[in-house]
Amino acid sequence: MLIDTHCHLTSPELAPRLAPVLAAAHAAGVQRIVVVAVNVADARAALGLIAAHPELSLVLGIHPHEAARCDDEDVAAITELLRGRGVASGLQERIVGVGEIGLDFHYDFAPRDRQERVFRAQLALASELGRPVVIHARESESRVCGILAEYPGVAERTVFHCFSADIAVARRVLDLGCLLSFTGVVTFRKAETVQAVARFVPGDRMMLETDAPYLSPEPMRKVRPNEPAMLVHTARFLADLRGVALDALAAATTANAVRFFRLPEE
Ligand SMILES: [Zn+2]
Repeated sequence: MLIDTHCHLTSPELAPRLAPVLAAAHAAGVQRIVVVAVNVADARAALGLIAAHPELSLVLGIHPHEAARCDDEDVAAITELLRGRGVASGLQERIVGVGEIGLDFHYDFAPRDRQERVFRAQLALASELGRPVVIHARESESRVCGILAEYPGVAERTVFHCFSADIAVARRVLDLGCLLSFTGVVTFRKAETVQAVARFVPGDRMMLETDAPYLSPEPMRKVRPNEPAMLVHTARFLADLRGVALDALAAATTANAVRFFRLPEE
């Protein structure tokens, strides 16, 4: 059994085909999926979508790309949802974390001070509520690590999603107590840097994700959109890379995800 720990099922490429996408995931052994929302409207859409599907959990927050468009009201709305206010009682416990939040210095879609303000507001919230955090960091890992260290108890419950930096950065992230999560990027031919990290990270500190609809793994890289069923290719690649059996890698990464997000076992 595998868990796709990061997937944008509300995307227009996936949401209209939800039933076949989930059936394909199930057939491929991907039995749980963590849906990630990137702003308030997306979070509300995702709540509607997870309602009918008990295998789905939800992480919600304001993505750094959204920081320019977002104001205090958006942060307040995210806060309410994370507190379970206005959320149907059966769905409250399916909101399992804050994310994806962080800093993106590659695209810089929002001014950096603005990104940082929105990031910090959500870290404070995660700290107060004791929730896991899903980080988006692009060319900003060092700054993100510096900020995380200011929020006691948060780093130990944080994952760097789609980790794509080098071993030195990975070491710093692991030393803080965070986990790393790998997407299909690790399967790409020129991904030697992240492959070196994926060989090096301890087995109890890593998770798997598709980041669908983006980043289809090899050998399906040209197949778009990516979807949770394709997680198996990333899992197989990582098992080969680390010299372990696929079953063992699946069991370890699934246990890590269950523990990290406090997902129901079964
Ligand atoms: Zn994402």
